[in-house]
Amino acid sequence: MNIPFVDLQIEYRTIKKDVNTAITKVLARSDFVLGQAVQEFEDAFACYCQAAFAVGVDSGFSALELILRAYGIGYGDEVITAANTFVATALAISTCGAKPVFVDIDPDTYNLNPDLLEAAITPATRAIIPVHLYGQPADMDPILAIARQYGLKVIEDACQAHGARYKERRVGGLGDAAAFSFYPSKNLGAFGDGGMIVTNDADIADQAKLLRNLGQRVKYEHQLKGYNHRLDTLQAAILSTKLPYLDERNVLRYQSAATYDRLLRGLPVCTPKIAEWAESVFHLYVIRVQDRDGLQAHLNEAGIATGIHYPVPIHLQPAFQELEHKRGDFPVTEQYSEEILSLPMFPELGIQRVSYVVDAIKAFTARTTIREHQSDYIKEQANVVSN
Ligand SMILES: *Cc1c(COP(=O)(O)O)cnc(C)c1O
Repeated sequence: MNIPFVDLQIEYRTIKKDVNTAITKVLARSDFVLGQAVQEFEDAFACYCQAAFAVGVDSGFSALELILRAYGIGYGDEVITAANTFVATALAISTCGAKPVFVDIDPDTYNLNPDLLEAAITPATRAIIPVHLYGQPADMDPILAIARQYGLKVIEDACQAHGARYKERRVGGLGDAAAFSFYPSKNLGAFGDGGMIVTNDADIADQAKLLRNLGQRVKYEHQLKGYNHRLDTLQAAILSTKLPYLDERNVLRYQSAATYDRLLRGLPVCTPKIAEWAESVFHLYVIRVQDRDGLQAHLNEAGIATGIHYPVPIHLQPAFQELEHKRGDFPVTEQYSEEILSLPMFPELGIQRVSYVVDAIKAFTARTTIREHQSDYIKEQANVVSN
């Protein structure tokens, strides 16, 4: 059996008719830029997130960048985020001219550790970007409390968490503004790039609309120096077709995660810990193991594709060398980067594929256990000899 890390083709085959109809409608209208489908999808997505406003943009990266710009964050400012995140979170901050300041992750949830947050705040801090990594919401209440105390904005990076809930509320409306990505492999994915800004703040929604579209409300009247970061109308139409299936597809992910949890019990593998106040949408199913590279190679030989999210922490990347970080600055993130392994995860994965993956993991861990026993045996023999 060959198991891909994600499979986008199965979903397309099942929704092909609906998608083709949606595309044909856009083609017939030919309102390709900021057309009717963009507004329709924005309304539907804001409603889905239980938030007031949604502004469609061309990627998750642009969503983060335009939120920061809408708040006027730039040179001389600092923005705090989690040390373990996708590079785009940090790049959005540096693109605006601001300095990314990292906070190590909580050892259980792998999300920004609120206990370490206050120590990272300086007079230059303007905002905090908690990341709902792997689909699990960050612990928002303590983060929001600290942010209010210091007058900081809280921007959710919800690019991996479409539909996740924190204390029964959807992510996206928990902070001041939120960024979503519709990169094809995300829980809600376009047929190309796409993103969304979600907020309850009318001024930020208005600023974001100006910024994504050359600073104009009315054609050729420019209120400010904007950009071209609009959500494509065809992508919006496709996303509207897919949105009604998001919840049931997240449930399927959850079921696969529960099966992984159950079948991996008792093996020398650390499975994801979901906080009692969190409802994860399992964008990724990430385990930790001692010989990660060995297990990955073993699974690869068995036809099972895996991923590492992320193998090199951002503070150790050459691209961010000006921050002058060194190994040891964020010990949990660094340790985990050598132990984490993302197993195949997509809605159609199913119990049989999950069992196959777990059997392959069992075969590998059985081998390592034998090796350990052997060395114990050798030690025992040595003791017998020396005594
Ligand atoms: C995917 C992702 C982004 C960026 O989204 P793009 O649409 O690829 O630009 C940002 N942050 C996180 C955590 C992501 O997973």
